[in-house]
Amino acid sequence: MQMEAIIKEQAQRPPLYLDCIHCGLCLSSCPTYRVLGSEMDSPRGRIYLMRAFDEGRAKITDSFVEHMFRCLDCRACETACPSGVHFGHMMEEMRGTIVEERPAPWIARIVLKHVFPYPWRFHLASRMLQLYRASGIQSFVRSSGLLHRLAPRMARAEALMPDIEFERGVTLDTHYRAEGRKQGTVAFFTGCVMNSMMGPINRASVRLLTAAGFDVMVPGEQICCGALANHAGLRDTAKGMARTNIAAFPVQKLDAIIINAAGCGAMLKEYPLLMEGAAEFSSKVKDITEFLASTRIFERLKNPLDQRVGYDDPCHLIHGQGIKSEPRKLLKAIPGIQFVEIEGADQCCGSAGIYNITQNELSMEILDRKMEKIQKAEIDVLATGNPGCIFQFRYGAKKFGMKLEVVHPVELLARSLGDSNEHH
Ligand code: SF4
Ligand code: SF4
Repeated sequence: MQMEAIIKEQAQRPPLYLDCIHCGLCLSSCPTYRVLGSEMDSPRGRIYLMRAFDEGRAKITDSFVEHMFRCLDCRACETACPSGVHFGHMMEEMRGTIVEERPAPWIARIVLKHVFPYPWRFHLASRMLQLYRASGIQSFVRSSGLLHRLAPRMARAEALMPDIEFERGVTLDTHYRAEGRKQGTVAFFTGCVMNSMMGPINRASVRLLTAAGFDVMVPGEQICCGALANHAGLRDTAKGMARTNIAAFPVQKLDAIIINAAGCGAMLKEYPLLMEGAAEFSSKVKDITEFLASTRIFERLKNPLDQRVGYDDPCHLIHGQGIKSEPRKLLKAIPGIQFVEIEGADQCCGSAGIYNITQNELSMEILDRKMEKIQKAEIDVLATGNPGCIFQFRYGAKKFGMKLEVVHPVELLARSLGDSNEHH
């Protein structure tokens, strides 16, 4: 069924929380329930609270807000639920209602409303973070311990600051030609974090798409997908960003719109839940692994990689988009690779957008449990397809003193393609 038809059907049907049959099968898959052990920090408990609010039996109090914002929006409960509860959508709507009554913190409002929707502002902010690191200010701040004494919360957020790549991503308003016989034309959604902070991943993505035989266009008017604003309850900001993006892509001329960040992909596919007129755009959106797995890229994976490689499922890929086998199939096709399945690969790493900053202690507890499992797998490389997860795992590897390279799957696939003048 088309997404818009689903929305219309939902508008006429009873509230979504009535789908919950209180069976509790989701509890053990919920990361916050696993750590905190409290019903109100479980999917079932949160649904109970949302229903109580809707029926006028509960108000938006401090503890209500806390239970809602402690949720990672990882949607593991959706995968576990036998009753088809659409938890992510309910949570996003609930947060939208909360911020109408209690505005989000000023810093989140400034960043999400006035930086993310403007590519050049986002790019400038990324360059300033690079400068902060490269100039030595960061090492001074860390070694002096001053920030820890003056503003411990900020110091914890600063410690999470990722190493940002200096290399640029792909250039907007560019058209890349297919290698060999052309199979079709796709558009590339660059994302804001990926293109400004993790440039090589975007260039590897485009390289793979052209190697698979596709022309790749990069529309110039595209902006951030709006996922972080939506998760924070800033639904109007997210809607405005969705409108800009839909207008930027010539959907009818495209075989697909490709995205390599799981969180952005889930958001782009669910624009119809946010607004009308988005169904055609969203029906073309494909995660890069989902798309590549159906192409002739396998013939091009020639260079052997003699490493033990593990894969971690980004929540918004496995639970948000139901994509599990494609990234594994692609990685296993790399000659020489020793693919290792990691225990609990489908569980959240605790990154969840800016959750590791806003809910630092809980996020670190979730990450620690995850890193213990990764340590047991004894791998050289960990691949995962979302920028927040990559940053979180790099931080985790440092924290645990592990020699672990954390990459996006496309980086390993592009290495297996061998040399290219354009991208290496
Ligand atoms: S989205 Fe994740 S954190 Fe939130 S209730 Fe569901 S499983 Fe728990
Ligand atoms: S598994 Fe689904 S139906 Fe059962 S308690 Fe959780 S959300 Fe409700």
